[in-house]
Amino acid sequence: TYFATVRPVPLEAGGTGVLVCFQDVSHLQQLDHMRRDFVANVSHELRTPLTAIMGFIETLKGPAQGDAPARLRFLEIMEREAARMNRLVGDLLSLSRVEQEQRVRPTGRLDPAELISDTVRGLSQVARDAGVTLECQLPDTPCKITGDADQLRQVLTNLIENAIKYSGQGAAVTIRLSPPEYRPRLRCEGIRIDVQDSGPGIDPLHLPRLTERFYRVDSHRSREKGGTGLGLAIVKHIVSRHRGRLSIDSAPGRGSCFSVVLPVE
Ligand code: ADP
Repeated sequence: TYFATVRPVPLEAGGTGVLVCFQDVSHLQQLDHMRRDFVANVSHELRTPLTAIMGFIETLKGPAQGDAPARLRFLEIMEREAARMNRLVGDLLSLSRVEQEQRVRPTGRLDPAELISDTVRGLSQVARDAGVTLECQLPDTPCKITGDADQLRQVLTNLIENAIKYSGQGAAVTIRLSPPEYRPRLRCEGIRIDVQDSGPGIDPLHLPRLTERFYRVDSHRSREKGGTGLGLAIVKHIVSRHRGRLSIDSAPGRGSCFSVVLPVE
């Protein structure tokens, strides 16, 4: 889309000409579109649990008043829906914080192996509850990278939590760290972290859009598992702030492997 301005200009040879300026505004229009889509999505995601909560309040005030077991069941559903709203607001805040810091280079120094074992330890109960085993494969050689520890912990948490929640009972998740070596995609030395699961896998059709905000392969399954649809969008932003790369290797029935490559200065 072009925006045109027309201006009269005096000509050297005498008389008056017309200057027409064309400005390409497609990019601005696209941004505006994305912003409107985002607001519509957020409103919808917040309204769904809110509508459920309001419906149950009405039932509690009326028909369910004298029915103690029903009351408890409804209160549990309301609690779950309120927790979903809370998670969504938390993820929205994370996303906006990460976007704000996008141009600021991280300065902390950290040992990725330590960060991985810390994060995995923190998620061991979640994995146990889901019947999933977590396995860490870490190299012996110590190494340090430049990065924001809290943000990189969030990357690992989001990827491991996804692997746990989409794989389910009896599955195995392996978190592997490969030592620094030349990474062609970064054009410099880098480490690689793989989070590999033995879950259902993802059709290649979905892979290019998987890191878009609110994009889900199966909305019902994601919501049922408590997903907000923002986890991978947050991962993508953090990885790009660290000048790293995220890649996804997956196929239906073969499990998924999410890999993050981060530069080592
Ligand atoms: P959600 O909160 O829905 O999990 P994400 O942004 O983390 O949102 O992931 C987007 C979608 O990618 C999910 O809804 C799911 O369909 C798919 N997905 C992510 N990780 C996995 C995985 N390990 N195995 C299968 N599907 C996955």
